[in-house]
Amino acid sequence: MTDVINYAGVAFLLALMAYVLALFYRTLSQDRIARESVAMEGRRLRTQMDAIMAERRFVRDLKELSWNGWRKFEVASKVPETSDICSFYLRPHDGRPLPPFQPGQFLTFQLHLPDQRKPVVRCYSLSDGPGIPEHYRVSIKRVPPPRDKPDVPPGLASNYFHGQLNQGDILDIKAPGGAFYLDMTKQTPVVLIGGGIGVTPVLSMLNAIVSSGSKRETWFFYGLRNKTEHVLKEHLEQVAKENENVHLQICYSKPDDGDIKGEDYDHAARVSVDLFKEVLPSNNYEYYMCGPPPFMTSITEGLAEWGVPDRDVNFEAFGPASAKKAGPPAAAAEAGAGAAITVSFAKSGASLAWSADAGSLLDFAEDNDIQIESGCRAGSCGTCVIAIMSGEVTYLHEPGEAPDAGSCLTCIAVPKGDISLDA
Ligand SMILES: Cc1cc2nc3c(=O)[nH]c(=O)nc-3n(C[C@H](O)[C@H](O)[C@H](O)COP(=O)(O)OP(=O)(O)OC[C@H]3O[C@@H](n4cnc5c(N)ncnc54)[C@H](O)[C@@H]3O)c2cc1C
Repeated sequence: MTDVINYAGVAFLLALMAYVLALFYRTLSQDRIARESVAMEGRRLRTQMDAIMAERRFVRDLKELSWNGWRKFEVASKVPETSDICSFYLRPHDGRPLPPFQPGQFLTFQLHLPDQRKPVVRCYSLSDGPGIPEHYRVSIKRVPPPRDKPDVPPGLASNYFHGQLNQGDILDIKAPGGAFYLDMTKQTPVVLIGGGIGVTPVLSMLNAIVSSGSKRETWFFYGLRNKTEHVLKEHLEQVAKENENVHLQICYSKPDDGDIKGEDYDHAARVSVDLFKEVLPSNNYEYYMCGPPPFMTSITEGLAEWGVPDRDVNFEAFGPASAKKAGPPAAAAEAGAGAAITVSFAKSGASLAWSADAGSLLDFAEDNDIQIESGCRAGSCGTCVIAIMSGEVTYLHEPGEAPDAGSCLTCIAVPKGDISLDA
């Protein structure tokens, strides 16, 4: 009987101890969870605070250091990246510090080429992150004649940069501009996509993310033919190695025999939305892309089919834009909402019906084989300015520099009603 009482007592004591231990453990883990969530909230607030402070510094420096019109720059160095891509480090000739820029923006160059009557204006994306006040960097691909027209002259500006421009030479450059950039105040996960030389603006975005210390989840898809075209390979590998938030995905569409999967590249395929479906945990990202027209058309269409909202898809074309957002921008839709609009091109003698989905006056002219010179296609460089003979325009977004009265920047202008242009 005493044994039974003893056993019952021990069992009771054990149960009591287990209960006390469980209570203790629960309090401990609740305490730990509470401490972790306070720490997490603290980190989140600190990141937000840092971003707000960085934005304030950006606005202040931009105001103090930016310039209007053309500024003289000296080629500080010229560094070959591949057989047909070269980086140019550009230092302001006046020695004053440079204003910051938004990653993804570009520089506009006015080139006085030896055998050209008029200056040639071209845009090149900044290929490094902001925050280096001594120099800017652009990376330029030498453009050959089109495959089906081998007898026409090769690209004017790119061949001048590669063949004739040297260290110490002077260039005229406009301040960084463009509306295709990554908002550095946000922490939204991003997918950066570069095709060929279109890697330059997204490379700037990647460098901006890592140099700011942001832990923003970042996927970087880079599509190219093979290792011979692989720009800044070691740099990209280093960035991915040192930043666990960066996921590098290199896609070779035609790997050479010597190119090694897992070492040089990750996928023997083109960058595609099917690949995103395989690799990304979900479609819930902001997408930024730049590349050749068919590349961007297939990706923008694929993302729309995959259910990615239009507002999360951002792209830039280096030439005529073939990829278009699903709906026309609000200003265009508003302009096209009334009666049919006729656009007359006085020099070409064409009168054509314009509707909102035809896009800007520049896109509309190009689609109808009417030549208008263009540069940035973002309302910044002023190359596509055309005199308005009658009628009015509205802008798809605020121009970088307003054109003279009576003219319009055709790359971002849509007609308000019937209009006649001097083109
Ligand atoms: C916002 C923006 C950013 C950019 N960023 C970069 C960048 O970072 N890096 C980069 O390398 N590029 C970039 N570009 C592209 C760059 O601006 C130029 O368009 C590119 O270098 C070609 O210019 P080019 O003067 O060398 O060629 P162009 O002289 O404009 O010639 C273009 C093509 O037309 C061909 N051609 C010439 N004459 C004829 C003819 N009679 N008939 C048919 N074809 C003809 C040429 O052979 C060539 O293939 C960017 C463009 C934009 C708009």
